[in-house]
Amino acid sequence: MPFQYCSEEARARAAPLQTERTAIPEHPVTEPRTLIGFAITEHCNLRCPHCIRDDVTTIRSLESGLIASVLDQARALFGQVAASFTGGEPLLHDEFERIIADCAERDVPYRFVSNGWHLKRILPLLRRYRPTSIRLSLSGATESTHDGDRGRDSFRRVLMGVALLTAEAIPCYLSMVVDRRNRHELRAAADLAEALGCLGIGFILPQPTPGSAERDSDLDPDEWWAVTREIHALTAHGGRRTAITIDYGHPFDGAERPCDTFAQRRLYVDTRGRLCTCCQLSNYGTNETEVVADLHQTSLVEALTAYRDRLAGLQHAQRRSTGTARVTDPFPCLRCCAASGKLTWLQDYPQSPWHAAAARRTTSAA
Ligand code: SF4
Ligand code: SF4
Repeated sequence: MPFQYCSEEARARAAPLQTERTAIPEHPVTEPRTLIGFAITEHCNLRCPHCIRDDVTTIRSLESGLIASVLDQARALFGQVAASFTGGEPLLHDEFERIIADCAERDVPYRFVSNGWHLKRILPLLRRYRPTSIRLSLSGATESTHDGDRGRDSFRRVLMGVALLTAEAIPCYLSMVVDRRNRHELRAAADLAEALGCLGIGFILPQPTPGSAERDSDLDPDEWWAVTREIHALTAHGGRRTAITIDYGHPFDGAERPCDTFAQRRLYVDTRGRLCTCCQLSNYGTNETEVVADLHQTSLVEALTAYRDRLAGLQHAQRRSTGTARVTDPFPCLRCCAASGKLTWLQDYPQSPWHAAAARRTTSAA
């Protein structure tokens, strides 16, 4: 009997480019200025070595009631706000439908990041209250690179997820952490995103983790200049309909622009309902210096006073060195990690190209 794809895969394979089929805006709907990121669960069905959420085996989830309360408080303070949901894998939250319904009731635009495995199940929900966009995570431009990181069948699930979303005209982006395994696949990943009809692809400089250090997959810090230049060259290449971006954290050639956190456009609440300085610092390293206040016990307006003080301290502490150059100097997010004492674990990994970042910086951030 000849091999047959399942109906979804057949549809994904037969689908023409989204841009030829459906009128989808080049850019997602303009979002309100303030974005609140919620890590809604630490649970995940995958175990990626680069994951900075070390504890994806814990079933710890943020209560939908607290999310709704934070949204209400934020709307009272800022006017319109948008929500972004991450994890772990946010689609594993057993109240995901309630969370989206609460956004709909409040007219709060939302988006989320997913590994793509559970998209089909929630499509009816997405039809009822459409997200502004969805980001699907990619670990490489080929099945072998991606599945080598995320497990068998993961690549196919991402392709199928994109096909499902584009068929629904839901703006879809890919994002790919760049490391030694997929460094040579930047152009191929951009081409893949274009061929699938994604609105964009974002490349990410991953923070080193014990898992990435153990398998020696982190790029040498110096290599990040070449990666950044290559991504900029890809963006300069005319004729692409898929936007190519590099996420904050890469080295800047000239003056750095502030991240959304320091620009006070973004707040972040972790799975325990705590307002934290930044998602990049949350659950990372061996301390919790990013935690500002428990929103179960403290109102958002009260927490924000401490939050702004903490951010000012962090911003001061993470400035580039004025004396001897440090390995983290060109990398704003890794400077924050170093300033927060979150890279000391690298002492145990002399083989890591980031090992020199293990030295503790003095900080007023904590
Ligand atoms: S899919 Fe995302 S949350 Fe899950 S293990 Fe991988 S990086 Fe972590
Ligand atoms: S880690 Fe620091 S520089 Fe990076 S996004 Fe967070 S606050 Fe900004």
